[in-house]
Amino acid sequence: MTDIQHYVAPTSLEQAAETLRAGDVTILAGGTDLMPQSQSGRLKIKRTLMNIHHVPELNGIAIDGGAIRIGALATMTDMLQSKLLQQHLPILVEACDHFASDQIRNAATLGGNICNASPAGDTLVPLLALDAEVELASKPNGSLSRRRMPLSEFFIGPGRTKLGATELLTGVRIPLPGPARTARFFKFGTRPALDISTVSIAIAGTLKDGALSQVRVAFGAVAPVPMRAPRTEQALEGRRLDAASIDAIADVARDEVTPIDDVRASAWYRKELIHNITKRMLAHVAQT
Ligand SMILES: Cc1cc2nc3c(=O)[nH]c(=O)nc-3n(C[C@H](O)[C@H](O)[C@H](O)COP(=O)(O)OP(=O)(O)OC[C@H]3O[C@@H](n4cnc5c(N)ncnc54)[C@H](O)[C@@H]3O)c2cc1C
Repeated sequence: MTDIQHYVAPTSLEQAAETLRAGDVTILAGGTDLMPQSQSGRLKIKRTLMNIHHVPELNGIAIDGGAIRIGALATMTDMLQSKLLQQHLPILVEACDHFASDQIRNAATLGGNICNASPAGDTLVPLLALDAEVELASKPNGSLSRRRMPLSEFFIGPGRTKLGATELLTGVRIPLPGPARTARFFKFGTRPALDISTVSIAIAGTLKDGALSQVRVAFGAVAPVPMRAPRTEQALEGRRLDAASIDAIADVARDEVTPIDDVRASAWYRKELIHNITKRMLAHVAQT
């Protein structure tokens, strides 16, 4: 379904933001969500289709100050192959490794995964646990304006975000983890490859004397948005990990999520998965 009258491919962020300011624009990155959604009639492409692949500022994976900046156009393959991410953010690499197939990974971008805002988006859960921020740019008054927002505040519903109508996501910033920081990711699907998450879980924290501090827990596919889990985080914070505490924390996790029944699983089954996988992940952390 489309009313496309113009196709544009800007070569700078200024040009891209100017195009967005004119209005009625659909952004095209890898197209792996946009094209199926448009062909099935779920999404109508607007008057101008803007391919952002030639905007240099949207590329790259690099250390920038105390953070790692990943450009919006980084593909799953780019992230999977990045030595920097392998060294500092292995859970993000793991999420890319469990993402779709080689063909999709070569086209699918990080920016597209974030802006598509699926509760089951595979990079979103590790990014939440890693305290990621999104970088946004627009040209409201003729000059380029930028803002940042914690990813945990960005999602407002399935497929809905706080991205303004004339804004572009330019990249993601993730604080460089300290040496005692540990992080785990687990995606559960009904088959080992090319599957949308039935649930996904990321847990991060600073491990000392068998307890985690500055804990982050995030869950996917169990709420209208990929979610941070503050009650589970609180239950885990500073608590020595033994069989009894792990059991109690996994109970809190199960009670905190609000999944729905759908074609992939029932709400009850998803809650059981959250309980059992959280328990297993914490047992692994305790053995570290
Ligand atoms: C066969 C198949 C398997 C898949 N498997 C998985 C999977 O395992 N896990 C998973 O999470 N997803 C999966 N997906 C979904 C999809 O591949 C991802 O969500 C992907 O990351 C989308 O990125 P893209 O570059 O293709 O985005 P596009 O399709 O180009 O865009 C997606 C949306 O984001 C907007 N957008 C894109 N970039 C920007 C930007 N920089 N600023 C503002 N808006 C922007 C677009 O306008 C559009 O609304 C799968 C899709 C297919 C077809």
